[in-house]
Amino acid sequence: MQTYYIVTMGCQMNENDSEKIAGMLEMEGYTKAANIENTDILVINTCSIRENANNRFFGNLGSFKTIKKEKPDMILAVCGCMMQQEEIVDIIRNKYRYVDIIFGTHNLYKFPQLLNERINGKKPVYEIIKDTSVIHEEIPIKHEYNHKAYVSITFGCDNFCTYCIVPYTRGREKSRTSENILNEVKSLANKGCKEIMLLGQNVNSYGKGLNEDIDFSKLLRRLNEIDGIQRIRFMTSHPKDLSDKMIDAIEECDKVCKNIHLPLQSGSNSILKAMNRKYTKEHYLSLIDKLRDKIPDITISTDIIVGFPSETEEDFMHTLDVVEKVKYDSAFTFIYSPRNGTIAAKMPYEISESTLKDRFDRLIKLQHGIMADLSEKYVGTVQEVLTDGFSKTDKNMLCGRTRSNKLVNFLGNSREGDIVNVLINNATPFHLKGEMLK
Ligand code: SF4
Repeated sequence: MQTYYIVTMGCQMNENDSEKIAGMLEMEGYTKAANIENTDILVINTCSIRENANNRFFGNLGSFKTIKKEKPDMILAVCGCMMQQEEIVDIIRNKYRYVDIIFGTHNLYKFPQLLNERINGKKPVYEIIKDTSVIHEEIPIKHEYNHKAYVSITFGCDNFCTYCIVPYTRGREKSRTSENILNEVKSLANKGCKEIMLLGQNVNSYGKGLNEDIDFSKLLRRLNEIDGIQRIRFMTSHPKDLSDKMIDAIEECDKVCKNIHLPLQSGSNSILKAMNRKYTKEHYLSLIDKLRDKIPDITISTDIIVGFPSETEEDFMHTLDVVEKVKYDSAFTFIYSPRNGTIAAKMPYEISESTLKDRFDRLIKLQHGIMADLSEKYVGTVQEVLTDGFSKTDKNMLCGRTRSNKLVNFLGNSREGDIVNVLINNATPFHLKGEMLK
């Protein structure tokens, strides 16, 4: 039996793409290899969101040469966002000639065909196509878990934030029809799936360009009706498109988890303008007020970039001010790194390393303090937890997530996919600990 192994870098969209690659390979008769050393096909699904992702990829690619030397018949395929950048493909063609197949995000559906071309021919197969308006619904998906699944609802992005490469690598925004999404979720529910995570670069603008009367709030309401599904999550929400209708839908749909990821990026209006984010600090804070007025127990997470070009101490203080006011349940914090091909990469840069480090440390200290206080409030409460299996950090404990998306390690005897009640008896800023109630 021929085997495959997929290395996935980057975000949930990439993880979902890897599930499609696995689905196509299994359809062709391949099975998942136990480890990278024993695979017949090795697929590297790349991410280009940060410069260090590029460096990591080329570092890894160098190390795969050893595996390829020991197993010359193994097929090495590279795909994903980085492959939509011509200069990257040129480097691979010239310096990493042992790569057998290169394909991009827009021709993922053709992987089995490209693989057969490589197996039946002698030459490496490189095929990258530019953006297309077609969505390939026919691709089979091998979901990683039975009890929870990613469901992509849009592809690409039209927002062109000045620091971001995604609109160039994933193309213009396209929405799947509601019928296709509903059918996929019904089929998942029939197979025992309890939680879905709806994915899109900006789920709030779902429906744009479709020939039907639909938007994200209507989609949530329809998904909420599907028997078997017990939790609906979604990401990412762009603040500029978060409507009152959507906030109402989150509140009113009982299966929609009261949890939102709302990237702030910066609290300074001049930096938000330079980022082309199309909202202000005041608007962002008004959205938080609306969310909390309607849904008092909602949990909120965010993304923040420190040290965007021209960020002053005053700009940074605005970011700290928002963090202080919102009190995020979690935050992904990044030091700005320029991405080749973006507008921001051409902006003059004068922030010193020491200033960057100082700002980043202050932000982390503030955010971790907030998370510690918020986590502490869970101690003594009973939380509904969807069991994911054994904890990665403590094999004697199970782990899962609350509806509010808090990670919980707990003692008990539930199985993957069970929804159980857990008494929380300990908290750190990053996770909770507890004991399952009988
Ligand atoms: S909304 Fe902005 S940050 Fe998000 S994917 Fe689109 S361009 Fe990138």
